[in-house]
Amino acid sequence: MIDVVLCTVQQHDLRLVGMALLICLTGSIATVQLFNRVRASFSYRRFGWIALTSVGAGTMVWATHFVAMMAFRTTAPVILDPILTLSSLLAVIGIAMPGLALAAHRRRWAGALGGAVIGLGITVMHYIGMSAYRVDGIVTWNWNYVAASALLSSGLAALSFHVLTGRSAWRNANAVSLLSAAVAALHFTGMTAMSITVLKLGHGLSDLTMVTLATTTTVATGIIVGCAAISALIDGHTQSETYRRLRYLAMHDSLTDLPNRMCFIEELERRFLIKDGYPCMAVIMMDLSRFKVVNDTYGHQAGDQLLVALSTRMTAMVKPGECIARLGGDEFSAVISYNEPVDLEDFLARLTAVCSAPFLFDRFTASIGANIGVALAIHDGFDADALLAKADLAMYRAKSIHSNEPCFYDSEMDDAVREGRELVVDLRTALDEGAFELHYQVQASVTTGEICGYEALIRWHHPVRGMVPPASFIPLAEKSGDIVPLSIWILRQACFEAALWTNRHPVSVNLSPMHLADPRLIETVRSALSDSGLPPERLLLELTESAIIHDRRFALEQLKALKAMGIAIALDDFGVGYSSLDVLRSFPFDRIKLDASFVSEIEHDEQAVSILRSVAALGATLNMPVLAEGVEEPAQLSIVAREGCTAIQGYLIGRPSRRLTDPDHVRRIVTLRPHPVEREAVA
Ligand code: C2E
Ligand code: CA
Ligand code: CA
Repeated sequence: MIDVVLCTVQQHDLRLVGMALLICLTGSIATVQLFNRVRASFSYRRFGWIALTSVGAGTMVWATHFVAMMAFRTTAPVILDPILTLSSLLAVIGIAMPGLALAAHRRRWAGALGGAVIGLGITVMHYIGMSAYRVDGIVTWNWNYVAASALLSSGLAALSFHVLTGRSAWRNANAVSLLSAAVAALHFTGMTAMSITVLKLGHGLSDLTMVTLATTTTVATGIIVGCAAISALIDGHTQSETYRRLRYLAMHDSLTDLPNRMCFIEELERRFLIKDGYPCMAVIMMDLSRFKVVNDTYGHQAGDQLLVALSTRMTAMVKPGECIARLGGDEFSAVISYNEPVDLEDFLARLTAVCSAPFLFDRFTASIGANIGVALAIHDGFDADALLAKADLAMYRAKSIHSNEPCFYDSEMDDAVREGRELVVDLRTALDEGAFELHYQVQASVTTGEICGYEALIRWHHPVRGMVPPASFIPLAEKSGDIVPLSIWILRQACFEAALWTNRHPVSVNLSPMHLADPRLIETVRSALSDSGLPPERLLLELTESAIIHDRRFALEQLKALKAMGIAIALDDFGVGYSSLDVLRSFPFDRIKLDASFVSEIEHDEQAVSILRSVAALGATLNMPVLAEGVEEPAQLSIVAREGCTAIQGYLIGRPSRRLTDPDHVRRIVTLRPHPVEREAVA
């Protein structure tokens, strides 16, 4: 080591050594820059950059060596062999090329391997260069230093490219230092390896010639390496500019220029990671009301115009910490990082104001509004997905209650909504998957105990939730409109199954109010009967008062048409809801079904007994038999029989089941009931 320092200091012109080191350093910077272009390009472009980088790097190495040689002082006459000097340049360029190609590979040790090859190129260049250096004297070599120089150059170059292809933040600076060290260490260790015994004093090249040559080489190298480095800079800038532009397009909505869903989620995730100095964060989901009307009335262009105008308003109102995005269609989302709850209130007020202020265009004016749902970070969710889902549920509630005020997520209210929505989604596939089946519950005459029919009751085997009771999904299906296809399936299934019964009892099918309002109902029933072969007299449709109250005139028309086909109609759940005498008078029902809630009370509540009695009397007057639902106890059976009900249904005689209940069992229970309790005793 000391030898190397002594050789460098004592046998060299230090001004020229400085110049050589300058070339080495700037050349290494350029090489690293160029190599980064190699890594960022593909196919023929990569090949071009490899060629340019090897020319740049080779020239740098060669010029460092050449200028450092000019700095070497010897008393013997010196001449340079031009052919070998040129060959040394071509050699390093030629060897650097495969080295760079190897180093640019995305494999783990490719950088180090490629770097080692480049180090080899530097060594080859140096020793060819040395053989071009003809000195009048005896040149002897210390082979230890020669080996050390080769090892140093390959080792440091390997390390340099290994670092450069790694992930360190300082990789460029570290690679430049290591590459410069590789070039310089090789040269000066290589020079230490050589000693000259002067045979004849004199000068081959004068000092002035040496300095002139060194300076000319430095300038020429500066030009070559500089040009290559500038091309790398321009290309890098153009590429990152293109990348920035493409990324902007991918992250923004093309119509409104607002951030899109992908950008918004990235932003949310970023805010979850870095708090930005605000203690609170909220996510807002927004759905425009009446936007569809504008679209349908004035066309899509008008809809677009409205969205752009609204986005411009929203962009103008945002303050630091607030971000609004368009998720698609008329759905917007926002995130706000804030200090105090009042900041959130202020943001929501501004948001509501920009949405509800009227829009005036040349061709049309529009007044829209927005349903807004809000979810608070940490309180309602720990990550972007959870918060978005909660804000969405809150928005859905705002929409379903037609609220213009923002709704904040509430686990009790919104989880029920979510479950409902999930059930509706599952419901749509359940029909195709055959997840429904009908169970039948027996109905019997109170006086004889004979079976007078079976009520079809739907059952849903949910793949995850297990058995879902109809009370949980029928109202949801009514709301979502999915009840009609479901109701058609029930009707047809009941007809087909009942047609196969050997006992030829009637089957009662519950008819949803929405299906009664369907103009195709008569046709549906007709085809269910004819396809199944079930005679109309064996079908009984049960419907509640709400089905009739809605559009009374049409409902009665439908009922008359059904009755004309020979189908019986029962009024279900009588006694709850409207219980209007008017409904009973408006249509000749074949049966009244008294709601189970009365029967459950009659053992202990005289008022319930009075109602039961009046309904039974009313039925007798109107000539409509009354069936008591939900009879569970023999005592209840005795009371309903005493008060004049003609039929019963309930767990006492049979639960809903796939298998039809045994008639003997039913007859036994009904006829062996306890003696009716005296009315006075109840009182
Ligand atoms: P619903 O029409 O009043 O049907 C009678 C309900 O009372 C059935 O409940 C039945 O299982 C239950 N039940 C019968 N006897 C007793 C008893 O002794 N005690 C008690 N506690 N309950 C008894 P389910 O099957 O859960 O049906 C509930 C409601 O769902 C039905 O009330 C009806 O409104 C609706 N639903 C059921 N199946 C259908 C259908 O196929 N179509 C339509 N549209 N609605 C249906
Ligand atoms: Ca019913
Ligand atoms: Ca009922």
